[in-house]
Amino acid sequence: MGFDTLCIHGGHKPENNRAHLTPIYASSTYTFDSAEQAIAVFKNEEPGYIYGRFGNPTINEAEERIAMMEAYGLQNADGSQLQLKAILHASGMAAITTMLLSNLKAGDKIITHPSLYGGTQELADKILPGLDIEAVIVDFKDINTVAKAIQADKAIKMMYMETPANPTLKCVDLEVLSALAKEHGLIVCVDNTFATPYLQQPFRYDVDFVMHSTTKFLNGHGTAVGGIVIGRDLEKMNTIVTKTHRLLGGNSNAFEAFLLTNGLRSFSLRMERHCSNAQKVAELLSNHEAVALVNYLGLTSHPDHELCKKQMKHAGAMMSFELKGGFDAGVRFMNKLKMCTNAVSLGTCDTLLSHPASTTHVGVPREKRIEFGITDGLIRLSVGIENVEDIIADLAQALA
Ligand SMILES: *Cc1c(COP(=O)(O)O)cnc(C)c1O
Repeated sequence: MGFDTLCIHGGHKPENNRAHLTPIYASSTYTFDSAEQAIAVFKNEEPGYIYGRFGNPTINEAEERIAMMEAYGLQNADGSQLQLKAILHASGMAAITTMLLSNLKAGDKIITHPSLYGGTQELADKILPGLDIEAVIVDFKDINTVAKAIQADKAIKMMYMETPANPTLKCVDLEVLSALAKEHGLIVCVDNTFATPYLQQPFRYDVDFVMHSTTKFLNGHGTAVGGIVIGRDLEKMNTIVTKTHRLLGGNSNAFEAFLLTNGLRSFSLRMERHCSNAQKVAELLSNHEAVALVNYLGLTSHPDHELCKKQMKHAGAMMSFELKGGFDAGVRFMNKLKMCTNAVSLGTCDTLLSHPASTTHVGVPREKRIEFGITDGLIRLSVGIENVEDIIADLAQALA
């Protein structure tokens, strides 16, 4: 199957009642033919559904499809097709939490880089220390620093990467860092939300786990919050990771899984259009007199442009730009938008913009905000799949 076909058919199983699409299984529990069959299902000797928190056929289709997408074209050392297992969660944060708590115990440390997604950063700052799990944050651009930090601290058990990072778009080198982590026996995991399996496949670099917020490009239509953890060690996925997912209770549900699976059908088409639109929008913005700076991986001016070319198929659909006029220009610009939408989140069919200084970061003191790179006139942009002429016309009239 080609990747586009996989997006449509991957994981689909024929239905008893011959429904074309896998229905929304609104059933909290599942029945057994006999006590013997129940025993076999409970012992995992026979496939079957047990209870809604553990999964159901609608959820399973989304899981299998995304696992196939991440494994697409990748092989094991013996040349056979790589098999992955995915578990769908209620949100990206639930998926990340399951992955962390399946692999770490009190006293363990994670090595990671600055500029993680805000929620992940807060999890590491506010929740993990209470479990005696510490995040060691070092500059992942400097491989020697990373190597020294790992060697200096035997408590480091995991390397955590997010590339490109939300929202800075900073990238880290998956090949080099994963190889270093593996030399030291670390578990390697990657938040692949921004790139998606269409643009980047971390399992190519021997990583152990990939997580996504499926809320973004995978769903693509802004209809459901969700998250997924995908692993290559099937034994571990079927035991401790499954157990943690079931016991923490961050399960997804049939309705949102259905919306995700439906969104995935157009995933590769959407990504091509998202990326080609974004490149054109970035070029327009970087030549505009009202714009001081454009942060987009597809521009040669971006410090990670070459790294992006090495590990990603295209530069993605996320960018930010800085208005010369500062805070007031940002507010004015947002108010003048006609077609593009003022909203947080990203990865939807429609173009979304936000002005963090007046919204997500309005409560953060100005000095601190600027230290985080959230300057007064910074605008965040998730380029949609509308006709690019319409996106450009709306941005241009708002900038005028
Ligand atoms: C949105 C996002 C998350 C969190 O996902 P939710 O679905 O909102 O819980 C995690 N990582 C990245 C990179 C994200 O963009």
